Amino acid sequence: MASGYDRVEVPEDGAPIEVVDPATDELDVPDNPIIPIIYGDGIGSDVGPAAQTVLQAAAEATGRKIHWMRLYAGESAREKYDENLPADTVEAMNEFTVSIKGPLTTPVGAGFRSLNVALRKKLDLYTNMRPTFHLDGVPSPVSRPEQMDMVTFRENTEDVYAGIEWESGSEGVKKVREFVESEMGYDDTMHDGPIGIGIKPISEFGTKRLVRKAIDYALEHDRDSVTLVHKGNIMKFTEGAFRDWGYEVAEEEYGDEVITEDTLWEERDGEPPEDAVVVNDRIADNMLQQVLTRTSQYDVLALPNLNGDYLSDACGAQIGGLGIAPGANIGDGLFLAEPVHGSAPKYAGQDKVNPSAMILSGRIMLEYLGWHDAAELVRDALEETISAKQVTYDIERQISGGTKLSTSDFAGKVAETIHDLA
Ligand code: NAP
Repeated sequence: MASGYDRVEVPEDGAPIEVVDPATDELDVPDNPIIPIIYGDGIGSDVGPAAQTVLQAAAEATGRKIHWMRLYAGESAREKYDENLPADTVEAMNEFTVSIKGPLTTPVGAGFRSLNVALRKKLDLYTNMRPTFHLDGVPSPVSRPEQMDMVTFRENTEDVYAGIEWESGSEGVKKVREFVESEMGYDDTMHDGPIGIGIKPISEFGTKRLVRKAIDYALEHDRDSVTLVHKGNIMKFTEGAFRDWGYEVAEEEYGDEVITEDTLWEERDGEPPEDAVVVNDRIADNMLQQVLTRTSQYDVLALPNLNGDYLSDACGAQIGGLGIAPGANIGDGLFLAEPVHGSAPKYAGQDKVNPSAMILSGRIMLEYLGWHDAAELVRDALEETISAKQVTYDIERQISGGTKLSTSDFAGKVAETIHDLA
């Protein structure tokens, strides 16, 4: 184990998780793993400790113990070390391979760039994975929320999130405009006057490794289909290329395990071979309505960065919203669990918000560790607590006869339920 961190205290009693094969995410996980945790900004200091309580309860109920290692980023790192993202934080996440974090605030317009995006880039966490399923008892804006059981795989490192953009009035924007208009021939495409310009890179490399993660997941978890979601009818050479490269992976790398929807109809009259994953594609705007109107037909979705951001939040709304929706960022042999929600500054430090999204993100982490028994306990205990109407404010305001609990009391109830169920 490396030492010599100035800004990280490594717990003495725990053992590191070892990566056996980065390509397949195979790990060697001790029963006393060291797991880095960043609480993050705003409500992070409420939901972070709540998640620790529940995840530790699940670990202990299954004969294990997590040794948490606090890391700092965002506001807490500025207070402690006068910088947003200390190098030791990134290095420790890299060394200890499996981590969990709460939200980090990003200023709009001016100010520093997203620390979340920076972390994903520095660690090459190229996949954002969000399982979206309904827990009994959680109110939903749709009439049949139980039909939602999708897992989105969003590309995390490119697209308009690559950060290649120029501010209106800057030297950069003038140069780019001139190049695009005079050398590339788009001379009457942009409006006159002040303008901001961004670039949308989508690569074969970035697309293919993301689509592989989605197909591998579908095969490992007995899912029926992977849908490539794109806006390739309009953005032919970026989003359209995402679709084409996605199909190339499906057709060239998986043999009989994967079949495209076209082949299925041309050769098999729509009847898939047993155990094969069907790969199809949908245009993003259509997909936003399909998730509402044909919810149960979709399974695993693979998307470029921006579509993935929008669509996964829309799916999350169907199962109860941001207080519930979990996520994780995955690279080759590196994993970072993180809820979908942000830092909700107006509720910071009030011990009020729902920690379920952070807890369920931790549950994805337990599954990644291979601790399926602990993961199931977390899901069952959450479901039981919410079904008993012991809930935080966001759920209590939508149901009748509920008991409104603080963040920490809710986590305490879930932990108690884990002990009862074990
Ligand atoms: P937000 O922090 O997610 O909060 C928006 C609203 O969602 C809250 O006002 C609240 O709604 C509800 N909500 C969020 N988390 C909840 C929870 N745990 N329990 C119950 N309700 C919850 O979104 P935002 O206000 O747009 O963003 C705030 C900051 O977070 C921004 O700086 C943004 O950049 C950052 N952000 C970070 C991440 C990340 O770190 N991965 C992700 C998204 C945003 P009600 O008030 O209606 O109850």
